[in-house]
Amino acid sequence: MISTTLFPGRYVQGRSALSRLGGELARLGTRHFLICSPHPLEHLLPPVLPGVEQAGAVRTERFGRECTDQEIERLSGLAREFGAQTVTGMGGGKTLDAAKAVAARVGLPVVVVPTIASTDAPCSSVCVVYSPDGVFLRADVLPRNPDVVIVDTEVMARAPARFLVAGMGDALATWFEADSCRKGRGRNIAGDAGSMTALALARLCYETVRNFGLSARTACEAGVATPALERVVEANTLLSGLGFESGGLGAAHSIHNGLTALPAVRGLHHGEKVAFGVLASLFLTDAPMALVDEVYALCASLGLPTTFADLGLAGVSDQELLRVAEKSCAPGESIHNEPVEISPSLIQAALKAADAEGRRRVPADAGLCPSRSPLR
Ligand SMILES: [Zn+2]
Repeated sequence: MISTTLFPGRYVQGRSALSRLGGELARLGTRHFLICSPHPLEHLLPPVLPGVEQAGAVRTERFGRECTDQEIERLSGLAREFGAQTVTGMGGGKTLDAAKAVAARVGLPVVVVPTIASTDAPCSSVCVVYSPDGVFLRADVLPRNPDVVIVDTEVMARAPARFLVAGMGDALATWFEADSCRKGRGRNIAGDAGSMTALALARLCYETVRNFGLSARTACEAGVATPALERVVEANTLLSGLGFESGGLGAAHSIHNGLTALPAVRGLHHGEKVAFGVLASLFLTDAPMALVDEVYALCASLGLPTTFADLGLAGVSDQELLRVAEKSCAPGESIHNEPVEISPSLIQAALKAADAEGRRRVPADAGLCPSRSPLR
């Protein structure tokens, strides 16, 4: 049995880490194509642009909201036309995925600058492609991981806390999915077994979110980068990225993909849907009640969804849940890495049990956090 572990080339994190962008780009080339979400384009890039311009010629382009095949094609054309030697993505997960895909298509190194800690996309070689109206289409595995990942924790601290919380939802899944792959001899993103390194990082990811998650959320609400926030940003971005990619995915991400079939969840972040996928996976895999208790209490304290109503799916029909379940267990979905029987009706049952447990607990869990959920 061969295991493969995947890493980004370099991971730079801390206060004012964005000031390193020019220096990192200078190592990689002299013509830099930057793809930015609207907010970083207007607010985060201008202060560091002089440093970037010292690293060579720069062309910036606004990202078109959704990581679609059409958008990747458009941006690749612009990068070629500019004669780019590097591609940088600055923004949320979709912007970063698009930058990674453009760099792969044009054959260039890529620098990734997440401006929110809401997903584990930055360090990975995976690019999730959506349809123009936001439905999950597929996850492409690119030939290489990002060359540089730059994470400025002051930027993360100033972003709305909901992003950090969503990132913790995504990070929460990492250990459960990697552990399922280990038990079920599931394959990681490289198609190989996960290494003990990946499993240990996935465990550290879970423990960091469990032990420092609420403190980090509080810091983020105050707009400050405390040590707890630094830890959680690293867990959401580096540990979760290494853990899922090298440890393997399981039910939680497939249930996320299934949920995207329902238009009502479109306003939710990736990690919020993944977190509910973790809760459903606890029932799918018959997790011990002490663990169910721990994970629900954690989700409630952080403000992650624990009921259909939290997901915007109050009154969801059995037929709709079956659509979610069927999409979740489509051929090729990572849910087949779980060491248990998988079928649409079993997934539908796990979803309903997860919601029932969330509703059963609401009065008790509501006391865990003054503003129980940013979703309400
Ligand atoms: Zn994820």
